[in-house]
Amino acid sequence: MTLDNSMLDGTIASIDGAVRRLGLEDDMRQVLVEPWREIQVGLPVRMDDGNIRVFKGYRSQHNAARGPYKGGIRYHPHADLEHTRALGMLMTWKTALADVPFGGAKGGVSVDPRELSTGELNRLTRRYTLSMHHVLGVNRDIPAPDLGTSAQTMAWIMDAYGSIHGHTPGIVTGKPVELGGSVGRAEAPGRGVAVVACRAIVDYGSSPEHSRVAIQGYGAVGSAAARTMFDRGANVIAVSDMHGAIVNTSGLDIDQLERIVAGGGNISDLADADQLTNAELLELECDVLIPAAIEDVITTSNASNIRAKIIVEGANRPVTSEADQVLSDANILVIPDILANAGGVVASYFEWAQNIQVFNWELDRVNRELDQMMNRAYEVTKERKDRNGGSTRDAAFDVAVGRVARVIKIRGYVG
Ligand code: GLU
Repeated sequence: MTLDNSMLDGTIASIDGAVRRLGLEDDMRQVLVEPWREIQVGLPVRMDDGNIRVFKGYRSQHNAARGPYKGGIRYHPHADLEHTRALGMLMTWKTALADVPFGGAKGGVSVDPRELSTGELNRLTRRYTLSMHHVLGVNRDIPAPDLGTSAQTMAWIMDAYGSIHGHTPGIVTGKPVELGGSVGRAEAPGRGVAVVACRAIVDYGSSPEHSRVAIQGYGAVGSAAARTMFDRGANVIAVSDMHGAIVNTSGLDIDQLERIVAGGGNISDLADADQLTNAELLELECDVLIPAAIEDVITTSNASNIRAKIIVEGANRPVTSEADQVLSDANILVIPDILANAGGVVASYFEWAQNIQVFNWELDRVNRELDQMMNRAYEVTKERKDRNGGSTRDAAFDVAVGRVARVIKIRGYVG
């Protein structure tokens, strides 16, 4: 346990900071903080043993000033309404900073998806969709995968939604490519993390080729970040999964690691690597640390032990606000989640646009435009930081909150 604030309090504190720095009025602050709509539902599901279990499902639609609500659905034992609300808020700032025409939302179901069979997950997802379909829509709210959900989950949602509204691929993003998903979407969050990490390394006065990178979480985001950093010449010295971490200070063989994991193996099966714990990985001496698993991994309990020069938030809110202060005092640069991990929702925007136009892009185009949008978000944040001082997180929130506030005014949302 730590004494750090909850994720929701930390996120609201970031908004409040931006409201103060931008000189926005208290009326506007209320509109920016309060979710525009929230739904909690009971989801009865027939389990394989014949019994019924009722799961709790959530959707927090935080803000739609800049476009339809957008954000993933998380299946996790800790998912609850407050947690979903905090994640929904982060989506609003993420889409605004990346300048994609969406608002922000998040969904959740409190469930450990590893304990359910494929059939049970299918039925749970259909039930969730039936309970939410009236607030979803291509121009209303477009879900995507998040922790514990996948392209398969999106396929089930699309199917269930389509059975009511007709074939509607643009209702979800992160779908299987065969069903209208975009090439490059699955790798986009990790690729975006790497693009931003490389920019930060160069601004730090170094180069990817001279950088040692440690990645906590070798899942969808972490593995694609590792691949892209490796391709750009960086030395990926450590990665971890939920069972533990591996390290080799002269660099892990990422090609080999990918083959092992693709074959159903464990990261610990990689030869030429020492084992360590997740906690030890976070405290390794390295140039770039990418926490890409879950929130609250760098807290006041371990922040003073961090020996990375740059932290790039691959996960949502892995660094608590209290830890942020400790890291800033230690001169460690933190590239915040709403900038670093926007690659997923940027590629989601491309997927949604392709679905609406019924026209598929090639991978080269997806990657090129993704890199361009990530670079633009990085630059606008850096400009703000260079002009106003403060942390990169402050600068990112200033740009994002400023954009949303401006649109709320222009729309006349508050009459
Ligand atoms: N779940 C991802 C995120 O947290 C992607 C959201 C999306 O593509 O809508 O950014």
